[in-house]
Amino acid sequence: MNIFADYHTHTIYSHGKGTIEDNVKAAVNIGLEEIAITDHGPANIGVGIKVYDLKKIKEDIRQCRKNYPGIKILLGIEANVTGLDGTLDIPKSLYKDLDILLVGLHPFVKPASLKDGYNLFIKNQIGKIYSPWSQKARDTNTKALVEAIYKNKIDIITHPGLKVSIDTRELARAAVKRGTALEINSSHGYLSEEYIKIARKEGVKFVINSDAHTPRDVGDVARGIALAEKTGLTHTDIINAKKD
Ligand SMILES: [Zn+2]
Ligand SMILES: [Zn+2]
Repeated sequence: MNIFADYHTHTIYSHGKGTIEDNVKAAVNIGLEEIAITDHGPANIGVGIKVYDLKKIKEDIRQCRKNYPGIKILLGIEANVTGLDGTLDIPKSLYKDLDILLVGLHPFVKPASLKDGYNLFIKNQIGKIYSPWSQKARDTNTKALVEAIYKNKIDIITHPGLKVSIDTRELARAAVKRGTALEINSSHGYLSEEYIKIARKEGVKFVINSDAHTPRDVGDVARGIALAEKTGLTHTDIINAKKD
């Protein structure tokens, strides 16, 4: 299986170690055809992009497109769900320039309202220490992600189930209807074959990404490929894969 694009990489504009150019260079060096720069949305506490940096981010991308014409560079974001109704934290000044939209559920995010904070973040924390609440949290997480899928044109849901429990089957059903891919994340070792099997049954497409936070990790998707192959996926199931 040949992965020709890495659609999930972070830079110094959130909490990655390299610049946009560092990531692009790394991608060129390993022969990728496409790379997406997808820093964390601004609601991600402590790590999200600063809205005042958006101009610089767009300018860096523009420069890189000029200097590295052999690779397709996508401007993206890994947005956060901040409301139970599927609200995302995408800055308006970025929206029209976005080439790719990733959305992930993260545990430490500034909520759209107090009620959303309770539902999306407090419930998860309580669910972790008090098991009767874990199902409640799971239902809420799933609902928020599914709403986000219907409300927005999302290309990829990142690391489903990481640190925040979700109902894979329900998520996959919504993703199929809206043409959203589910990520097989190569950085976090939490993914199970079970998740892929359940999602695949619904006919969902996958994407294998590095989730690199350093240039060195750009395009390092070995773990994702291994898992995909173990569960019998082929390049036709994966939007950024082609035949060897
Ligand atoms: Zn991160
Ligand atoms: Zn993430």
